[in-house]
Amino acid sequence: MKPVVAIIGAGPAGLTAALELIRDGRMMPIVFEASDQVGGISRTVEYKGNRMDIGGHRFFSKSDWVMNWWREILPIAAGDDTVEVAYQGQRRKIATDGTAASERGLTMLVRRRLSRIYFLRKYFDYPIKLNGTTLANLGPLRLLRIGFSYTWAMLFPRRNVRSLEDFLVNRFGGELYRTFFMDYTEKVWGVPCSQISAEWGAQRIKGLSVIEAIKHALRQGKTAKDQTTSTSLIESFLYPRLGPGQLWQEVARRVVAGGGDIRFARQVVGVRHAAGTVTAVLTTDALGQQEEMAADFVISTMSVKDLVAGLLAPAPPAVGRRQDSRGTTVSGLHHRRPAAVAHARQSAGEKRSCQPHAAG
Ligand SMILES: Cc1cc2nc3c(=O)[nH]c(=O)nc-3n(C[C@H](O)[C@H](O)[C@H](O)COP(=O)(O)OP(=O)(O)OC[C@H]3O[C@@H](n4cnc5c(N)ncnc54)[C@H](O)[C@@H]3O)c2cc1C
Repeated sequence: MKPVVAIIGAGPAGLTAALELIRDGRMMPIVFEASDQVGGISRTVEYKGNRMDIGGHRFFSKSDWVMNWWREILPIAAGDDTVEVAYQGQRRKIATDGTAASERGLTMLVRRRLSRIYFLRKYFDYPIKLNGTTLANLGPLRLLRIGFSYTWAMLFPRRNVRSLEDFLVNRFGGELYRTFFMDYTEKVWGVPCSQISAEWGAQRIKGLSVIEAIKHALRQGKTAKDQTTSTSLIESFLYPRLGPGQLWQEVARRVVAGGGDIRFARQVVGVRHAAGTVTAVLTTDALGQQEEMAADFVISTMSVKDLVAGLLAPAPPAVGRRQDSRGTTVSGLHHRRPAAVAHARQSAGEKRSCQPHAAG
């Protein structure tokens, strides 16, 4: 009998692991999924015949291995031999798989999309760019304050740079920090900038600076007359024809066709282990019925905090004490007539909820 790998979660990570194990052939994956659907936060929910994506996922990776993995599941339908995809300032060319790929409707489309942030009741390019639109949106008064506080930060930087706030204020000035970073970072990470370490900022924002942004804007100005429609702002990316969930439904189908098992509405509540080795997982169904299944290996994609809490025997108290996780709430709008949603709307900075956008 093949060794059993219990996989916790049928999201992208769990299903990728399951399919790779099926392809390898030496082990038997059994996936436990707490919900009744595959795809995790990359799933597509169906409502009254409409498909809604929990987050409009762009399929873009710097890794050829990852791009090819996706393409093998859902080939790229495009007339040209190669297409250029772009995401957050990075561009790359990839080979397409022709029109034959679309026969069963299992295809990746190449989509162009302009992403913008709705902020201060105006649309800003996302990622933020220093261009005519941004300057006009900020207005002369705020720009003056930005210029002044930036100069101030350059002349009198905070000496003791301990928090992300110190780091950002020193790099961008107080006004830019308050405009674009403060609320946004707290909203995304759930922790105020003053409580995040400066090293974290240095790692993530290392390439970004006001001088670089101005240089970039000047370079752009030479090549594009109208900054609002500069092609560098328009991203193109791969998108499954029926939304991100389509990819994971197809992966799940292959896992099951290859002999693997996916058990829905089965939440893993405990992992039994002895002498440093996992021996079993404990699951519970919607009615609270518990079940224990022996496993030789466990791959977990559940929250680390819950995993540590579910270890049997318990982990030492120091383990997982500082683990925290963020929840995501996504609300969808169901329109009577087709919504003309031309771009992704993300609210940043302002403390209000965001809505998912239509795909395709
Ligand atoms: C709004 C939004 C936009 C995004 N956009 C992009 C994008 O454009 N491109 C991109 O590459 N990525 C994007 N991401 C990130 C991407 O969604 C995640 O990286 C990816 O979903 C992580 O996959 P995962 O399998 O690790 O976790 P998840 O997707 O969270 O899946 C985990 C699965 O495990 C299940 N589970 C949890 N606990 C248990 C348990 N105890 N027992 C059994 N099952 C359990 C859950 O129900 C879920 O199905 C975006 C995310 C969001 C929220």
